[in-house]
Amino acid sequence: IRAMVPAKADYVHVDVMDGIFVPNITSGQPVVASVHKVTELPLDVHLMIDTPIKYVDQFIASGADMVVIHLESDTPEMIHKTLARIRELGCKAGLTIKPGTPVEAMAPYLGEIDMALIMTVEPGFGGQSFMADMMPKVQWLREHTSPDFLIQVDGGVDAKTAPVCKAAGANVLVSGSAFFKAADKAAFVQTLMA
Ligand code: ZN
Repeated sequence: IRAMVPAKADYVHVDVMDGIFVPNITSGQPVVASVHKVTELPLDVHLMIDTPIKYVDQFIASGADMVVIHLESDTPEMIHKTLARIRELGCKAGLTIKPGTPVEAMAPYLGEIDMALIMTVEPGFGGQSFMADMMPKVQWLREHTSPDFLIQVDGGVDAKTAPVCKAAGANVLVSGSAFFKAADKAAFVQTLMA
């Protein structure tokens, strides 16, 4: 995080995995709370967890500014309820899909979210390669939303794949491995935004 502020990142993206919805376990609410204490950057919390309604209150209380849930993590009725709960608590709501889920499945929720996230890797592990065949999903979202609607891409974003995401219509790029490996992080962020 100390590297992210001077590099002029716009958000801190936190990947939360529960070992059930995805095979790995990462960080939970205490880590979000700790990050919140050390930075003014907005916290974008990506929940790769089952039944997220059980936890959204806690993540928002821990300092999340945006909570992104997976379409596949609960029933459609509960997804609608979870998105409503996130917004009710004054937080921005985001929705995402795994690579195998068609983007049209997001249509019923577009009026209830502030951001849509297209996964360009299978959620659950860092360091995977970018799936360029997910770009038609980004294009579909761009065509079905307003020009300033946030469309995020997460997975394998680096200096080479960022222009591909932006050409498809993405305006929020998540970069983990490529950012932390970059020798000049400010230059790397500039490259992503160029
Ligand atoms: Zn993520």
